[in-house]
Amino acid sequence: MKILTIIGARPQFIKASVVSRAIKKSSGIEEVVVHTGQHFDQNMSDVFFDQLDISPPDYQLDIHGGSHGSMTGKMLESLEAVMLETRPDRVLVYGDTNSTLAGALAAAKLHIPVAHVEAGLRSFNMKMPEEINRIVTDQVSDLLFCPTQEAVKNLSTEGFDHKPVHIMNVGDVMQDAAILFANHASVPKGLQGEEGFVLATLHRAENTDNCDRLSSIVEALNRVHEKVTKVILPLHPRTRACIKKQGLSLNVETIDPVGYFQMVGLLSACGLVLTDSGGVQKEAYFFNKPCVTMRDQTEWVELIEVGANVLAGADSGRIFDGVVENLGRTIEDTNELYGGGRASGRIVQELLDKANAPSQ
Ligand code: UDP
Repeated sequence: MKILTIIGARPQFIKASVVSRAIKKSSGIEEVVVHTGQHFDQNMSDVFFDQLDISPPDYQLDIHGGSHGSMTGKMLESLEAVMLETRPDRVLVYGDTNSTLAGALAAAKLHIPVAHVEAGLRSFNMKMPEEINRIVTDQVSDLLFCPTQEAVKNLSTEGFDHKPVHIMNVGDVMQDAAILFANHASVPKGLQGEEGFVLATLHRAENTDNCDRLSSIVEALNRVHEKVTKVILPLHPRTRACIKKQGLSLNVETIDPVGYFQMVGLLSACGLVLTDSGGVQKEAYFFNKPCVTMRDQTEWVELIEVGANVLAGADSGRIFDGVVENLGRTIEDTNELYGGGRASGRIVQELLDKANAPSQ
């Protein structure tokens, strides 16, 4: 069976790294990898290929920048050409980016079956580009690999039980990555010996592109850094540009985006995670750290239910209080919410089973 894997953004390199490993270990799957180019530089792309031992992509599309429609449209056209050339038996897409949407749509229109890793996640906020991407991708996929029981429930509520598709809670591939690479942790230069700090990440468009929200978050970060403990913030290039454009003054320890091994080092050493990322909310949990999430809703509701994560929106006071109340707590992963590191093995098994199943 030939599988065409489509990746393009930082979290997808991490997710695909563990599934591609499992594919290599199995017999019966030939994987062809396309990198759309959505994230493209050393910090946001190359470092993950180097560290996580991902084979260089077979196709590099080099598509980035521009509006959502323009980027997705260019990807759609180029991915269709790759699919016509490679004739895969199945397309594999990850998460909720424009690369995910373009890959799923191009395949569906060519009648190539689509498998979606991270199916069923919902924020119920249609203003998020990610929400649109994931809803459409799920609609055109026939193998829906959900990371949680909640995601399965979301699909069931949307009527997927009555469609000719396979829905499985396989667990979260990001936990596979966290377990696999945990002992490669390294601390970025200049931060050796730091402990108990707040590790912050900030890049969601709903925060960076909204002046009020961004300035309130910057105020909260500055206040935590000044009054509570050091805030270390690997700064996403888009956020850096938005802060500059809005003339805000951010007085925390900013560093360039780091590789995954350095991120694991920071997650292990910090006292709390403050983020608007999807993946980082769970990584806080995998590394037993409390999390304060700078969003109004989360797809990972089980973390809120077990008390590992607090939603603070972009409200400066709630963010500050959330940090003060949770800093230094140890979070126990006793509930095995995310599959315990077995997601990629399950995904590959399902891909093989589906390929070998008699067609209906
Ligand atoms: N990450 C990283 N370096 C950084 C910031 C994040 O390796 O400087 C990793 C992080 O550990 C997680 C993934 O990138 O595995 C999350 O990506 P991001 O927050 O960009 O996307 P999201 O999960 O919100 O879609």
